[in-house]
Amino acid sequence: MGQRMTRRQVDEGLELYAQKNYDAAIKKWTTALPKMKDNRLRFSTLGHLASASRDRGRNKDYLVHAVQQIDIAHELDDNVLRAQAYLNLSRANEMLADYFKAVSYSRLAIQYSQTTDSIQGYALLVMADSYIGLCNFPKVLECLDKSLYISHESEDHLMEIQVLNTMGKVFLALKDFPKALAFQRRAHELALSNAVYAGEQNANISAKFVRLTKLKLATPLRLMGDLQGATKCVEEAMRSASSLGDRPVQAKCLVCLGDIQRSQNNNEVACKKYEAAIQMLQDMNDRYSSTLAMLGLVKTLLAPDTHTQMASEILATALSTATSMGNKLMQARCHLLNERILTSDNQLEDARQAFEIAQRLYREIDLICTICKEPMGMYPDQIQILTCTHIFHERCILNLLQRWTYEAQSCPKCNKSVLHSRSYIALSLF
Ligand SMILES: [Zn+2]
Ligand SMILES: [Zn+2]
Repeated sequence: MGQRMTRRQVDEGLELYAQKNYDAAIKKWTTALPKMKDNRLRFSTLGHLASASRDRGRNKDYLVHAVQQIDIAHELDDNVLRAQAYLNLSRANEMLADYFKAVSYSRLAIQYSQTTDSIQGYALLVMADSYIGLCNFPKVLECLDKSLYISHESEDHLMEIQVLNTMGKVFLALKDFPKALAFQRRAHELALSNAVYAGEQNANISAKFVRLTKLKLATPLRLMGDLQGATKCVEEAMRSASSLGDRPVQAKCLVCLGDIQRSQNNNEVACKKYEAAIQMLQDMNDRYSSTLAMLGLVKTLLAPDTHTQMASEILATALSTATSMGNKLMQARCHLLNERILTSDNQLEDARQAFEIAQRLYREIDLICTICKEPMGMYPDQIQILTCTHIFHERCILNLLQRWTYEAQSCPKCNKSVLHSRSYIALSLF
């Protein structure tokens, strides 16, 4: 009798969750869990708790639930459950910016998954996001290419939206803003059309993707000078996130609002937005986004040239977080900001050294265009990614390819043909 009751509690939790009564749902599941004797029911309830924690930004809880799922999967010696649990474990580690662990666990998820389930595609997405964290862009593209193929084969639009989002993130990191915007627009359009066709049952999840993709439009719009468009996107995403208590999106909206205010020289307002965002993101243990917010705050503090001391202190924290994550691109950006501080303080020799460290980091992550020998992603520029996943300045590679014969069009780095190889990513935008 007790087991029937716990099963009912789990279902009641699901109903509460669908009614957007999240905390009550989490409470139901948490109370029911210790009374459960059936391991499979425990596993699925932990899965509900894992998704709920993830949606609320409770990333450490997410990790704990995933670890408990792994134990059950091993106890039952069930590979289907193992694949699901490893996928959760990899995503939790990615969100906590433990990228090496995230990559290993997504490998395990793929290893235990069946060829027909969508877990492979989602595990590849986690891997791609983790490789962005580690600034290994060719690996990001390799994973996204496979994931996009799976999303097309299985007609999984939510997977496709995430591939496009991550692709936008790649171009944003490389400072090719028009391409970043093009990918985020595609993702948003797909999220909108998906929401139209999604049934009542999936209304929550499709609304979440509409909100998320709208937010992701804001940064490339702002960087291309459309502050009004960027503000509109953030405000709409913020409204939707606030009404549902979607804390991860709320925090990221605050960072974007800080960026927009900074672009308009409203430095005091910008600082307040960044500070609120950093607080929330640190609560969620989101080291990646909190470092981005810290860099925004440093730029704001440097604008009037009066708060250099405070800017230096925050920059030191940002640099140590970027280093602990293994993110060399963010480290390079910290050193470039430090160069600015040192130059304004007339410490020219130290400034030159900071610039050299930044350049060395760009070389280490292979972000030097082998054609012109200049770094990519340091200044806004158009970037072209070849089907072999090698990256160049667009003008450099186009110049080179135009000079060659049709047959000889191959990548200057790996010699693979540009024309005859297949890449879903390379073809997805144009
Ligand atoms: Zn170049
Ligand atoms: Zn190549």
